[in-house]
Amino acid sequence: SRKEKEEAVRRANALERSDIASLRKTSRQEYLKKREQQKLEELKDEIADEQYLFGSEKLTQKETDEFRHKKELYDRVIKRTPEDDNADEYVMPNAYDQDRGVDQEKRFSVAAHRYKDMDSRKKMNPFAEQEAWEDNQIGKATLKFGAKNKQASDDYQFVFENQIDFIKASVLAGENCEDEMLPVAGQTNSTKSAFEMLQEDRKNLPIYPYRDELLKAIEDHQVLVIVGETGSGKTTQIPQYLHEAGYTKHGKVGCTQPRRIAAMSVATRVAHEMGVKLGHDVGYSVRFEDCTSEKTVLKYMTDGMLLRELLGEPDLASYSVIIVDEAHERTLSTDILFGLDMARLRPELKLLISSATMDAEKFSNYFDAAPIFKFPGRRYPVDISFLPAPEADYMDAAIVTVLQIHVSEPLGDILVFLPGQEEIENVEETLKSKIRGFGTKIRELIICPIYANLPSEVQAKVFEPTPEGARKVVLATNIAETSLTIDGIKYVVDPGFCKIKSYNPRNGIESLLVTPISKASATQRSGRAGRTGPGKCFRLYTAFNYQNDMEDNTVPEIQRTNLASVVLALKSLAIDDLLHFDFMDPPPAEALVKALELLFALGALNKLGELTKVGRKMAEFPLDPMLSKMIVASEKYMCSDEIISIAAMLSVGSSIFYRPKDKQVHADNARMNFHTGDVGDHIALLKIYSSWKETNYSTQWCYENYIQVRSMKRARDIRDQLERLLERVEIKVTTNLNDLDSVRKSIVAGFCAHSAKLEKNGSYRTAKHPLTVHIYPSSGLSKVLPRWVVYHEHVLTSKEYMRQVTELKPNWLVEIAPHYYQLKD
Ligand code: ADP
Ligand code: MG
Repeated sequence: SRKEKEEAVRRANALERSDIASLRKTSRQEYLKKREQQKLEELKDEIADEQYLFGSEKLTQKETDEFRHKKELYDRVIKRTPEDDNADEYVMPNAYDQDRGVDQEKRFSVAAHRYKDMDSRKKMNPFAEQEAWEDNQIGKATLKFGAKNKQASDDYQFVFENQIDFIKASVLAGENCEDEMLPVAGQTNSTKSAFEMLQEDRKNLPIYPYRDELLKAIEDHQVLVIVGETGSGKTTQIPQYLHEAGYTKHGKVGCTQPRRIAAMSVATRVAHEMGVKLGHDVGYSVRFEDCTSEKTVLKYMTDGMLLRELLGEPDLASYSVIIVDEAHERTLSTDILFGLDMARLRPELKLLISSATMDAEKFSNYFDAAPIFKFPGRRYPVDISFLPAPEADYMDAAIVTVLQIHVSEPLGDILVFLPGQEEIENVEETLKSKIRGFGTKIRELIICPIYANLPSEVQAKVFEPTPEGARKVVLATNIAETSLTIDGIKYVVDPGFCKIKSYNPRNGIESLLVTPISKASATQRSGRAGRTGPGKCFRLYTAFNYQNDMEDNTVPEIQRTNLASVVLALKSLAIDDLLHFDFMDPPPAEALVKALELLFALGALNKLGELTKVGRKMAEFPLDPMLSKMIVASEKYMCSDEIISIAAMLSVGSSIFYRPKDKQVHADNARMNFHTGDVGDHIALLKIYSSWKETNYSTQWCYENYIQVRSMKRARDIRDQLERLLERVEIKVTTNLNDLDSVRKSIVAGFCAHSAKLEKNGSYRTAKHPLTVHIYPSSGLSKVLPRWVVYHEHVLTSKEYMRQVTELKPNWLVEIAPHYYQLKD
């Protein structure tokens, strides 16, 4: 009955292709029923097939169990009542292991063994190479007989130990999808110029038919809330419409984005669409990078940058329209911008709040019942599948799912959501080595990572159309949830996590944690699969998790972050009564008090809570107040030159060193060279920067020392800007290289709230709000363990760690921050 089965698969595929047609004719309900029927049919076929073998010696115990499991599932689905939730599951055949008490970890051991540990395997087993080669040969051999689609996926079972099978899915409803499928870029008439094609693409966006209506509404109202599906053209089109309608004659159109990478990428796109050079008519402005000119009329920027601009230009006189885009993200800066009520001072300034399909009422209410302009998007139905049981390792599950989609699903690009850069790099590496192993026997799979730190040339790669016959897999952070739309995505893999800032006002500790996403996020993520046609979303969590463990909405940033920099900004805008500031969702009072307390300790506020001269200087720097204070304090210690180098290096973050897998020892040795004399991490960073400068910013030198050139260049840019800001606050650039203590004292001046004392057991206790912490393992002081230290930041991984640590003398605390530390009698 193989033949019959193949026939069934062919039928199923045919149905797949006519989905769109049938969608138009049949109601969604019917469509679902049909799909379910079809899936059941397939399952029945399989069972019939295997029943024949069942009990015969041909099946191993494992296969027999698998079969039983399948049958159980089948029975369960058949017996389902219509009341059963319509959220379904997709099933890993090995899932039944769990019921039988098999360790979760073990279930993935095969995958881990295959994907991860090639290196260590090689060490332990000299024949590993040979085995790997053999593995691949087996893979190839089975593939040779593999027909397309389903057939191929069956054969892949030899290759992927944990094949994932899904039965049926609930569906994210389509919206307004009677339209024809969107033309795919590059497939239209080739005689047209690229520019003409771009113009055509613009007209195909869902927002286009509402252009005139929208402009009318903007003309009629000062404040307008605009709501539309992600990818419908809000960010790229509205500023252009405003430009075309003449709004840029008397001022700029500013459009804020929660993330720098979104601001940069969207500005690039719009410059392209308008046929102008980026930085001229269309530009962007993000922290430490200003790509605008006198000519710029459409300016994309981070919301944080607009907040900074407000400090210098409180009435935003140079703007005719401000668009607060992605308002649903509710970032700290966006919330503060709302509270500042930018439209209040100038009746002719238009304020547009634009958001994906969430929270519109809330925005409208907040802005005194501002009208809501909602236009329908174009969203195709998306099949959603869940796991039947939680996975031990979501990264492994994501990799398996991607490979599985690649070999068994029709062409169409894949989007995988991962929490951060590190996870993306890991998955990228594993996927690459997997694919290399398959050689030419599978279709080309192009891997495109996208995260904030990625250089813009590489970022641009995700938007390039996928070559014919190939498939693209985009590994993205949350940025692809609503900020960036990548065309051609048909499959979404959603592990259900994101990295999120959390803040404990009691001890002042802020950490980035990998946390489950909210239901609203999950819905947005699924929606990415249905942009240009029906799609599928694979959720790597259970329907139960979704229902019971996930919050409805993400908590706004203002309620889970350190408010010190915002309070400083508000104070310098002369907003003194923070408790009565018009917050959309007020932050916890504790967090506000904590921020005031810190700013007082830093000398930015006086006892009455008023901004001091020091505070005014600090507010000029687009940095965390502790870093700003460190810089301002360096004036007194005559070492501003050194301190801005350190501040720049700290701002680049943790991506300065790189450790190639095969040269980790070399890399670590190179790094320790900068630590000789147990100088502490801050001084080591300074040494790195100065040495690089001495070689005249040599790239070769970076290679030799396992240092990332890109990060160093960024540090240099940041440093240049800090130097200009020093001038603005009239602090001379002075160097005091012979006296490292003065450099350390400046650091303590900024980070006095981050001091810790060694305990008997080798751990540390923070001085102010007692907490047990440890020196980060890669620190130059992790073996030295000085009695007192000051640290830059706090990280929580397996333990509470201090990262970037420097030794201090305890009497400095009393000398430098007397109102914060007093000597015990
Ligand atoms: P919205 O803001 O409503 O989510 P956008 O204006 O960001 O929508 O996107 C509209 C369309 O513009 C997207 O569907 C995508 O095709 C295209 N687009 C946006 N940014 C880029 C980019 N950087 N490169 C290529 N295409 C882009
Ligand atoms: Mg947008």
